[in-house]
Amino acid sequence: MHDTADAVVIGGGILGASTAHFLAKKGFGQIILLEQRTLAAVSTGHSAAAIRTFYSNPVTVQLAQRAVEMFSNGEEELGGDCDFRQIGYLALLDEAGIEAGKTVVQLQREHGIRIEELTPADLSDRLPMVNLDDISYAILEPDSGFADPKKTTRNLVESASEWGLTAHEGVGARSITLTNGRVSAVETDNGPIQTPVVINAAGGWGRQLGLTIGLNYSFRWSREYDVVLNVPFDTADYPWLTDPQLCVYSRPAGPRQLLVGLGFPKEIEPLDIDNYDTTVDDASRHRVEEKIFQRVPSTREGSFDHGWASMYTISDDWHPLVGPEPEIPGYFACLAGNGHCFKLGPPLGEALADVITGNASKIDITGLRPSRFIEGDYFTSAWGSGNRA
Ligand SMILES: Cc1cc2nc3c(=O)[nH]c(=O)nc-3n(C[C@H](O)[C@H](O)[C@H](O)COP(=O)(O)OP(=O)(O)OC[C@H]3O[C@@H](n4cnc5c(N)ncnc54)[C@H](O)[C@@H]3O)c2cc1C
Repeated sequence: MHDTADAVVIGGGILGASTAHFLAKKGFGQIILLEQRTLAAVSTGHSAAAIRTFYSNPVTVQLAQRAVEMFSNGEEELGGDCDFRQIGYLALLDEAGIEAGKTVVQLQREHGIRIEELTPADLSDRLPMVNLDDISYAILEPDSGFADPKKTTRNLVESASEWGLTAHEGVGARSITLTNGRVSAVETDNGPIQTPVVINAAGGWGRQLGLTIGLNYSFRWSREYDVVLNVPFDTADYPWLTDPQLCVYSRPAGPRQLLVGLGFPKEIEPLDIDNYDTTVDDASRHRVEEKIFQRVPSTREGSFDHGWASMYTISDDWHPLVGPEPEIPGYFACLAGNGHCFKLGPPLGEALADVITGNASKIDITGLRPSRFIEGDYFTSAWGSGNRA
């Protein structure tokens, strides 16, 4: 292993892989990515992988818009095709959700995003299996969809080797070393790497790593799960369906399969990040099924195929922490993916790489600076607290 680098990125999920990719692509020199398990082993590899622009603040909308652009052109922008399936993202809203929905539509249109406003009558032919009885209004993003999170992460890492990125899987970072207050090295399982720049993209373990240099991030961790159901209908025309009323989302997982998960607001399920059940237990499965049976009644006639559980790392305002720590030259955070950062990973990595290399970013991400919490500059959402930002 190299014992010096121009930058060390800690964490091989989508946030670390993206930042490392774009640092290398922008010519920052020798970049080392450390992943204590395997690439995309934790949240990223278990993501439902929605790529949508349905957000209610300008920074996130711009990042999500850039994500759609990047995934649409994976070979050029992300180092390879990421199996982006633009099946459309459809939000079903009842009377109470119309106002927030219109806010989102207006913001999207201000940014030039293609979006359609629909009535239940517009949907009944396309989606005869969906119960639209309580739905008053629907929003469709035709260009949104989902991609393959493991493939995306590998593409980003492997394609950047030609520009100087070296990834070490199975090698953990133990601590960051400061000399005279600035980053000077990373202590790893295989010994130290001298470096002037470190990016903390350690996901759920980002707090633990921050503590090694006196940073105390306020995070919570929640167990999140998805299930795959065999269903008695063809999913060819089924979009990504989000349902803020019942707090359930679903999308095709195969020709006659749906991936189904729960949205917020709901109870956070705290977990021990080093020791939690990664399978879907019966109680979790029933919680998901109870909701999807209401929205898509014929799923009752289907069967459970498989499922998995992983985690959200949640910040105090449900938005990621991305940027420098002004008191610690050479240190950058790219943390707290909440429920958004599979899609936001590539544009955030690109923007953070611009900040680190001193280039002008396409998108101004200073709003995501980690210091916003002590400054009281929190993000809010048209939907209230939760991952529906
Ligand atoms: C069930 C579920 C569904 C989701 N659905 C969506 C969705 O539809 N759309 C969306 O955009 N987002 C979704 N998300 C959220 C998204 O997956 C996360 O926001 C994103 O993956 C976070 O990426 P990350 O790189 O921060 O974390 P991770 O993927 O967890 O990566 C962090 C990595 O750092 C490594 N690491 C930790 N400590 C160290 C260390 N000391 N040294 C070396 N390596 C270390 C870990 O092993 C891990 O691989 C979902 C998440 C879950 C769990």
